[in-house]
Amino acid sequence: PRQIVLAARPSGWPAPDNFTLVEADSQPLEEGQIRVRNQFMSVDPYMRGRMNDVESYVPPFQIGQPLDGGAVGEVVESRSDAFSPGDLVLHGLGWRDEAVLDAARARKVAPIEGLPNSAFLAVLGMTSLTAYVGLLDMASFKEGDAVFISGAAGAVGSIAGQIAKLKGASRVVGSAGSAEKVEYLRSIGFDAAFNYKDAPVAEQLKDAAPDGIDVYFDNVGADHLEAAIGSLRNFGRVAMCGAIAVYNATEPPAAPRNLALAVGKRLTLRGFIVTDHMDRMTAMVTEISEWLREGKLSYQETVVDGLENAPEAFLGMLRGENTGKMIVRL
Ligand code: NDP
Repeated sequence: PRQIVLAARPSGWPAPDNFTLVEADSQPLEEGQIRVRNQFMSVDPYMRGRMNDVESYVPPFQIGQPLDGGAVGEVVESRSDAFSPGDLVLHGLGWRDEAVLDAARARKVAPIEGLPNSAFLAVLGMTSLTAYVGLLDMASFKEGDAVFISGAAGAVGSIAGQIAKLKGASRVVGSAGSAEKVEYLRSIGFDAAFNYKDAPVAEQLKDAAPDGIDVYFDNVGADHLEAAIGSLRNFGRVAMCGAIAVYNATEPPAAPRNLALAVGKRLTLRGFIVTDHMDRMTAMVTEISEWLREGKLSYQETVVDGLENAPEAFLGMLRGENTGKMIVRL
């Protein structure tokens, strides 16, 4: 079986030579283990942090060792009573075409008619859970709020914006990095959208939300966060989900410079990590499934084929080549 190994740690932007595709020996199963033929794997922004030798809420990848991350696949061999060949499972050993793991570390999922199995990594998985928890629990979204979402055409952002609309936002504004993405945001119901590369974010946000915003769902950080702090109304709330603008930076960001406004505006800025909120998965899946069935929520995936192309898919995601969730089909 083939796997992708961390060849070297990047400084700044990662590059293809940080990764190597290797052929590994087939591992015999121990009692209690299963062998999974992976069908889809996730490439995510947080994996960039794991390429650094820094202890965080997830351990760093190790040089010479395979990377890991969310994956879904079919059990092909089982030495566990809990799984049989043919079962579809969600687990954490992506970046390889075959995974051997303890059965306790896999979760059985039932394929859903009309949805690809990659949905368990995206619209019915961690992507939507992040959007759901971030908007509803962290930013305490309520009906009538005006919401701004950065990284809005990406996996989490595109779902967060639609949840806000479905739950009665007075206005939902999104920012993204191309004219096509801005068009996509309008097509899925955003009231306004802009390309952050066209002009300063603060100016474009003021034009798009002239009366200000109540909630900012931050996927980007830096100048986006500064613009949002400027536009937030009193008692505004920020879900600090990510700061992708700084993940590849070698210098601290210049923005936000206006954080002191948080005092007078009585703002709440709340960081969160989705894995602390797994108890919300059932509620999320129930609501999102219903909206999907009713045709009220749409989702997109950008699918790259082949394990050998997984590093390119990951790098492409960091560069903004995805609309919706970036997925690798194995
Ligand atoms: P996305 O699908 O949004 O992909 C990343 C996107 O970021 C790219 O498509 C690109 O789109 C955009 N981007 C890249 N560089 C910049 C930049 N300098 N400025 C603005 N936008 C940029 O990824 P996810 O939906 O998986 O993740 C979105 C955010 O949520 C990330 O910050 C991630 O770390 C965070 N996250 C946090 C979690 C948590 O538990 N807190 C869980 C999951 C995700 P564009 O073309 O628009 O530039």
